[in-house]
Amino acid sequence: MKISLCKHHFSLPVNLPGAPGDCRRCGLSWDDNLAGLARQAEQVRLATAHEARCEHCAKRTVVFQFQREQQPWDEAEPPLLWLCQHCWSRAAVAVEETGFADFADAFERGSDTQLARLVGGVR
Ligand SMILES: [Zn+2]
Ligand SMILES: [Zn+2]
Repeated sequence: MKISLCKHHFSLPVNLPGAPGDCRRCGLSWDDNLAGLARQAEQVRLATAHEARCEHCAKRTVVFQFQREQQPWDEAEPPLLWLCQHCWSRAAVAVEETGFADFADAFERGSDTQLARLVGGVR
């Protein structure tokens, strides 16, 4: 895998809200950058997948690492979860909707509203 050594400096979006402009150093576009990051995450996910017990549903199967993105209020890295394919997709949806995928995580760092949404909205 080729890794760019450029510490990208993306220009601020011209029209807010919008995607930042190309990297001022290497010319990489913001979309390509995001796609690259997603690809890397995907590769890590596939490379580290292994058989174990899903931390969510306790089924013994192939599990994939899941980590939500670090938020400004996080003092430490968000917890790393090992989830089966099914729970992984559900966690991704939960993070999109509530900011959290895991009850313990939300309980510790989330607001009351976020916690209520996680408990009430995601099954
Ligand atoms: Zn760059
Ligand atoms: Zn599961």
